[in-house]
Amino acid sequence: MDLTEKILKLKKEKKAVILAHNYQRPEIQDLADYVGDSIELSRKASEEKDAEMIVFSAVDFMAESAAILNPRKKVLLPCLGARCPMAQMLTVDEIKRAKKLYPNAPVVLYVNTLASCKAECDVCCTSANAVEVIKSLDADTILFGPDKNLAEYVSEKTGKKLIPIPENGFCPTHLLFQPEDVKVLKMQHPDAVAMAHPECSSEMRKVADFIGSTSKMCRYANESPAKEFIVGTEEGILHRLRKENPKKNFYLAYEGAICPNMKLTTLDRLYASLKEEKNVVKVPEAVANKARASLERMFEVKS
Ligand code: SF4
Repeated sequence: MDLTEKILKLKKEKKAVILAHNYQRPEIQDLADYVGDSIELSRKASEEKDAEMIVFSAVDFMAESAAILNPRKKVLLPCLGARCPMAQMLTVDEIKRAKKLYPNAPVVLYVNTLASCKAECDVCCTSANAVEVIKSLDADTILFGPDKNLAEYVSEKTGKKLIPIPENGFCPTHLLFQPEDVKVLKMQHPDAVAMAHPECSSEMRKVADFIGSTSKMCRYANESPAKEFIVGTEEGILHRLRKENPKKNFYLAYEGAICPNMKLTTLDRLYASLKEEKNVVKVPEAVANKARASLERMFEVKS
């Protein structure tokens, strides 16, 4: 029996569900029950009524969200070292400082934040629903963190003033994309449509034909009549795009755009975590209750 078969057998025995982010390794995506972006997986995590255990193949903040939304289930993060550097860029103290400076501004946090920060905000958002969440608020000045590029993008889309907290939060992987690389690829593939994630720089977003979260990119690629796409997000998404669109061609806008944290989940680590039920993600109850309210407010916004 190979490792994948062993994992699937264990999963059944333990009534576990495996969720995998779009940036996970192909072999992890292939054995997962659900593959998606943070909002799709957050929803799945909250809808999982029958599972007793959730194995969240992704990074720390996503598994934390699953634990917050499923307080009675065991949530495992196959590799505890899989931490999102962007989420580490925002602290509770920073949020409190910003709130003192702008006492009337609501606080909206990207789900790429730690649970302790989510507990301090009014509502969460993902890159897929950030525009709708900001539009839903009865305020024109909003504190937004931790991704400055997403804040800029949402501000452009809504006309509202988004004050970034911290001043310069960013995703190190998405900042690797450069508009020059897209221009070269467009010369090589003149019919290709360029897609970029809103975590990319404004220069990169300017050369993109389509801007959206990974779930929106997948939908766009599935529905578009185009046959070739330049992809401006982490390379793991290529596996899903190619699987869902075998007759279309996808070119990564920069070959080195690999999130090392997302790749820390391997079959060996997933197996060990599930077998020994180790790397259980726990969020203190008081923090979880407040953070859950911020996540649930996000689910209430239509997107
Ligand atoms: S791709 Fe960027 S935002 Fe996503 S987990 Fe990696 S570092 Fe964090």
